[in-house]
Amino acid sequence: MRKKTKFIHGGISRDPYTGAVSTPIYQVSTYKQDGVGNFIYEYSRTGNPTRESLEKLIADIEGGKRGFAFGSGMAAITAVIQLFSAGDHIIATDDVYGGTFRVMTKVLNRFNLEVTFVDTSDLDTVKNAVKPNTKAIYVETPTNPLLKITDIQAVSEIAKENNLKLIVDNTFSTPYWQNPLELGADIVLHSATKYLGGHSDVVAGLVVVNDDKLAEDVHFIQNSTGGILGPQDSWLLIRGIKTLGVRMEEIEENTKKVVNFLQDNKHVQKVYYPGLANHPGHDIHSKQADGFGGMISFTVESEAKALDVLKKVKYFTLAESLGAVESLISIPALMTHASIPKERRHELGIEDGLIRISVGIEDIEDLLEDLENALQDE
Ligand SMILES: *Cc1c(COP(=O)(O)O)cnc(C)c1O
Repeated sequence: MRKKTKFIHGGISRDPYTGAVSTPIYQVSTYKQDGVGNFIYEYSRTGNPTRESLEKLIADIEGGKRGFAFGSGMAAITAVIQLFSAGDHIIATDDVYGGTFRVMTKVLNRFNLEVTFVDTSDLDTVKNAVKPNTKAIYVETPTNPLLKITDIQAVSEIAKENNLKLIVDNTFSTPYWQNPLELGADIVLHSATKYLGGHSDVVAGLVVVNDDKLAEDVHFIQNSTGGILGPQDSWLLIRGIKTLGVRMEEIEENTKKVVNFLQDNKHVQKVYYPGLANHPGHDIHSKQADGFGGMISFTVESEAKALDVLKKVKYFTLAESLGAVESLISIPALMTHASIPKERRHELGIEDGLIRISVGIEDIEDLLEDLENALQDE
């Protein structure tokens, strides 16, 4: 089965009990047992048919054995980190998602889990960060907002040599463009709030593994800590995933045109997009993914100019988040990355006049006109 077909026919595409073509929302907490211990489902934290349908679907489309659905991307990430124990050390990409940085440095550190943040696009830096108590490497590629690229396969070799688990946050590329498990990762996870849901209407997280023991361990954490996704949101996510292929194709088309437009606009200084031949991660990304995605960052001369652009846009919605059918726009220095001190932000290359956009599937002519008008002085 090819990808676009899998999005529709993967997992449990037909309700086994009724034949319904769309998995029904099993809004239920518990299940009648035919005698003690004789049941299909026991309790909905442990398992629910609607959630299971989603979990089978994400496992199929990531090329894994088992999937798990959580109440948010952060709940999924926290559950995965809880596979490790006090005293363990994790190496993570230095510009990981802000919430990931926060949970690792302000919550999980209190349980004595140690994390070192390094530039995972530099393989020697990753190798040198391995310590006797290192248990995992946590990678995000492309990153936010500068779209830095890490070579998943090369890092997976470092992980294997040192007996570490490789965890990849695949939110930006989506399973349509990139499948980290096939590149040697042990665990892939998503903020399904973004492209997988795709319509700015659900918050969810997904985890996929391709090893039975690891699957058992993730299920144990999911059932023990309880951060599960409810049946309504599981259903919405299944519905979103059905159109992932067409949405990503359309987003890719629109994004290329927006990138070309930005490069030619005199008010734009730098454009960050992995699809550009001069992007430092272009070759590696091209090798490990089939598309470049819908995220672009670019700089204008100042924060004041960036604020002016955000004030003038009509169709690009000023909002955090990304990956939706509607185009979104933000200033990382003032929004998603505001908690990082200015000097550190500048070190990371996050300038004050940096604007991030998530391209949606509106008519491209409207999007280009919108940016053209917003970038003009006056
Ligand atoms: C949004 C996001 C998260 C967190 O997901 P939530 O669903 O908001 O909890 C994690 N990683 C990346 C790359 C994200 O963009």
